[in-house]
Amino acid sequence: MLRIYFCRFLGVIFICFASFGANFSYAEQVVVYSARIEKLIKPMFDSFTKETGISVKFVTDKAGVLLAKLRAEGKYTPADMLITTDAGNLWEAVQVGLLAPVESGKLEVNIPSYLRDPQKKWFGLSVRARTIVYNTDKVNPAELSTYEDLANSKWQGRICLRTSKKVYNQSLVAMMIAEHGKEKTEQIVSGWVANLATDPLSNDTKAMEFVAAGKCDVTIVNSYYYGRLIEKIPNLPLAIFWPNQDGSGVHVNISGAGIIKNTKNKQSAIMLLEFLSSKKAQRLFTDINMEYPVNPKVSPDSRVAEWGGFKQNKMNVVKAGELQTEAVKLMDRVGYR
Ligand code: FE
Repeated sequence: MLRIYFCRFLGVIFICFASFGANFSYAEQVVVYSARIEKLIKPMFDSFTKETGISVKFVTDKAGVLLAKLRAEGKYTPADMLITTDAGNLWEAVQVGLLAPVESGKLEVNIPSYLRDPQKKWFGLSVRARTIVYNTDKVNPAELSTYEDLANSKWQGRICLRTSKKVYNQSLVAMMIAEHGKEKTEQIVSGWVANLATDPLSNDTKAMEFVAAGKCDVTIVNSYYYGRLIEKIPNLPLAIFWPNQDGSGVHVNISGAGIIKNTKNKQSAIMLLEFLSSKKAQRLFTDINMEYPVNPKVSPDSRVAEWGGFKQNKMNVVKAGELQTEAVKLMDRVGYR
């Protein structure tokens, strides 16, 4: 049985005493299936273990592989928690019945409501901002304004986009459908396609490399990819622009987690989830991957803070899942490959 320590503050002295109580249902180990790679999660798990004595065993793989594994394992799964990126993936895990609702005042305080599931089956742990990056030699930032404006013919032959096959742009388009409706979104995305300088690219970094090389002028990427690229090659002619600041705000998505429905260690898994939303773990989330914290009490990493503050779109990210199929169909209709 796990040894749980209680600490009480008495005057200036901490008195800590141990309880070996058989009444606690905390397991000594939590098993996590994670679509985030080891270096992005292990520091948080180590910190949790240090604080609670509960160890964390984890398996990392692509989100789709982990969802298939959880479905195949059913009630025999050893997993207690799923961590993955993109609300679209977490929404899918809910659709196939893998996640259990969690009642936790701590999670509700630490995570703003637009970054967690209204059914309480998943919770955002970091915010990723999908924003505009432009070539500083070719674009005057005064030319830039919104995602929607990139459909304007003044951008003809000037845009690079990541492929529509990856969930990031599917979620962006899904959130636009939620905001503008299908018809208007279709006009916008069709405008983007008409303005492409080249075929869609395989990832965000490649899209920025094309912009830096002058093959196109602007692209839409997650800001942490910009951070990584600039750290590797500091003198690239690239800069971040925060769009839609006079309107609904920058499109944000999350990495997040949910508790597996068939967990045998729900209490410990909830403890880990709450820990991941705490100031201590949120600091690690922001510093390790240059993402933004979900917890409003935590400020971004100093390198990230240099990119300036911005208004986030506060529409609930669950829409990215609900409208994902619509988004994929729409992108297909307008020839966005
Ligand atoms: Fe990513």
